[in-house]
Amino acid sequence: METILFLSPTEAALSKSALEALATAKQLADSLGTTFSVGLWGDNPQSAADGIASCGAEKFFAVAGAEFAQPRYATDAAAAEALARVAGATVVIGPSGSRWNRVAAGVAHRLGGQADSHVTGLSVSGGSPAIARWYYRQRMEGVLTRARRPWVLAVESGIAPAWQGAPGSAALVPVPCTPSGIRSNVSGIESQAADQQTIRPDADLLFVTGAGWTKKQPDGQVKTEEAQKLILDFLRLSRASLGSTKSLVDLSGEGQATLTFLTHMNQVGQTGSTPRHPKGLSTCCHGEEPHTVGWRFVGERRAISLDPNCGWSRGKADVLYVADAFAVMEKVNALLAQKVGG
Ligand SMILES: Cc1cc2nc3c(=O)[nH]c(=O)nc-3n(C[C@H](O)[C@H](O)[C@H](O)COP(=O)(O)OP(=O)(O)OC[C@H]3O[C@@H](n4cnc5c(N)ncnc54)[C@H](O)[C@@H]3O)c2cc1C
Repeated sequence: METILFLSPTEAALSKSALEALATAKQLADSLGTTFSVGLWGDNPQSAADGIASCGAEKFFAVAGAEFAQPRYATDAAAAEALARVAGATVVIGPSGSRWNRVAAGVAHRLGGQADSHVTGLSVSGGSPAIARWYYRQRMEGVLTRARRPWVLAVESGIAPAWQGAPGSAALVPVPCTPSGIRSNVSGIESQAADQQTIRPDADLLFVTGAGWTKKQPDGQVKTEEAQKLILDFLRLSRASLGSTKSLVDLSGEGQATLTFLTHMNQVGQTGSTPRHPKGLSTCCHGEEPHTVGWRFVGERRAISLDPNCGWSRGKADVLYVADAFAVMEKVNALLAQKVGG
């Protein structure tokens, strides 16, 4: 019989990706006909535990203390190890993210187990847990089981609906933990202002820009400034996440006039990222295979291109608008501004 433990660091409440991993752990326990427990750590995990009090966990274990609030290897790994040991876990499930991804392999090593990251599904095969993972830049999906325990898993975000339920009062089982070798101290976080951060994994829409935005237009003009304004206005009004083709982000490296807010971090595709969004809108992009392979997990795909013979029209987009993206986005922005008042 497997002993399943959902693990997560906490702030005031659990993150969306943590709630998705919780739903995945619960689903696995249901499929195996067993129970699961929750392990949380942080300054004071009580409020996060109360938020998921009705999730059906058999027990709520917690490591609490100010030192566990910081995202730091020594304390995150020590807390996760202590929680897994006290729960006697054979399968440990945590949400992919900088904190859990950083410690999952180390925690598995300390426990004498094995870790797998980028898990995109959990199922039961021959009575044992099985995980799904993608290989070869998301071209092949593999399903595997392992005999070694504990099996420590980092579950990707976006693969399951986040757990939802009524808050309540969770009875925490305190777990002692005395981490050693703390050398790092997080003195603050420096990040871009929210409006400058264009990669938004939780956005409902992925908005992709292609090299066409910087090409000579039918009237013979290059309109990079106008393109920049249209795209930034759309992102501001829609809160979409910004993706790009390789051709467009490569232009900046060659010193050509380009969209200054794009970096290779925005690149979607075979040599870029494979984001997960319910919807995607591609603009001024040809839709070649090395690019569209990055759209594998995007639910509904639409594209705006001047070229009726482009890759998108050959079965890769659900809807293709053969139109000038400058004109379409100007109209879309005007409608959005009316709606959200911007
Ligand atoms: C090994 C390898 C790996 C690769 N990996 C990636 C990857 O990870 N990601 C990636 O993106 N690419 C990748 N590529 C490159 C890929 O094959 C394409 O070359 C690239 O995606 C094309 O970019 P694009 O569509 O922006 O540009 P283009 O092919 O130049 O297309 C521009 C499009 O914009 C349209 N357009 C122009 N003006 C307008 C307008 N006003 N309104 C509407 N449409 C307009 C044009 O009709 C045209 O279809 C890879 C290639 C190789 C060989």
